[in-house]
Amino acid sequence: MQKRRDFLKYTGMAAGSFLISATGSGCGGNSSTTSGSKLELTFRPYDLQLKHVFTLAGNSRTTTPVVITQLSYDGFIGYGEASLPPYLEETQDSVMKFLASLDLEQFHDPFLLEEIMDYVFNVAPGNYAAKAAVDIALHDLVGKLVGQPLYRLWGLNPENTPDTSFTIGIDEEDVVRTKVKEAEEYNILKVKLGRENDREMISTVRSVTQVPLCVDVNQGWTDRLLALDMIYWLKEQGVVFVEQPMPKELLDDIAWLTQNSPLPVIADEAVQTREDVLPLYGVYSGINIKLMKCGGLKAAREMVTLANAMKMEIMVGCMTETSCAVSAASQLSPMARWGDLDGNLLISNDIFDGVKVIGGKVILPDRPGIGVNLEPGNQLFE
Ligand code: MG
Repeated sequence: MQKRRDFLKYTGMAAGSFLISATGSGCGGNSSTTSGSKLELTFRPYDLQLKHVFTLAGNSRTTTPVVITQLSYDGFIGYGEASLPPYLEETQDSVMKFLASLDLEQFHDPFLLEEIMDYVFNVAPGNYAAKAAVDIALHDLVGKLVGQPLYRLWGLNPENTPDTSFTIGIDEEDVVRTKVKEAEEYNILKVKLGRENDREMISTVRSVTQVPLCVDVNQGWTDRLLALDMIYWLKEQGVVFVEQPMPKELLDDIAWLTQNSPLPVIADEAVQTREDVLPLYGVYSGINIKLMKCGGLKAAREMVTLANAMKMEIMVGCMTETSCAVSAASQLSPMARWGDLDGNLLISNDIFDGVKVIGGKVILPDRPGIGVNLEPGNQLFE
């Protein structure tokens, strides 16, 4: 009930017209009132409960705040989400303020997606998770209006989805062993490195499994010679790529490392938006695209096009999110060489049913739009 009170409190401060409760639910509805239909955006804050304490760079947490959006049009509803892990600048408050500032009712045709998203992007700088929450809902809505999954509208083969990696965080040896054993369904594990115990971490993982690994250094290495030496050793240990090995500011060192590395070097912290991609040509082998960083599916697809043109590898990642945002990102995954789409598997109170991981592989639902259903009985949108 705390959440509902927060929401009510917020509606008191915000522009009321954007907070009208949406009518109807699910993807059904009538299509007899097309003329005069308007896009109606509603949104609610929601707190994701993590199954395990999440430790990153010395910070521990058990929840991730998100905002869930609904975009209604002509009896159809598209769902979206902004995920707001605490290391990013956006908060539930900033997202709801941004969403309340939008006038989407001026648009009478959701198929003008390019125009609508250009408007949303130009309302204010930044606010990428908030923009993603609109973009995802709009894509979902358009898919539902034509009755097709996004991957079909984009001409992608759902069989080409990648395996998703499952992340093993930095922890005590016993805990790492237990986590790796629990992850036996996965065909690739992502191991977090960047501390003094990198070789021990890998050796501990290797004492349990022989599946391919990737490593995420989160900018943790500062000496390029030591980094290259480590990458050669990691290759011998069955590691297939290295994510963000050094601080993103060290462009020359990273370019040198990429040139000499026997493994692909993937940018994560160094690439947020579309504008970041071009300057990374020749610096990294590939980019990790996340909807919450770039502002949604339209921006992400533009990044894919840019990266393809530059012959850079593509990885699609996510934050801790419900199946809503993860299913949206998964629609792009047939275009990616690697997927890091385990965010919905880390929470215990998902309100959506959507993409699945079966045998370690991303399995796209055969449902329109982003392919999600709101779980019955949830308290969020009644
Ligand atoms: Mg990363």
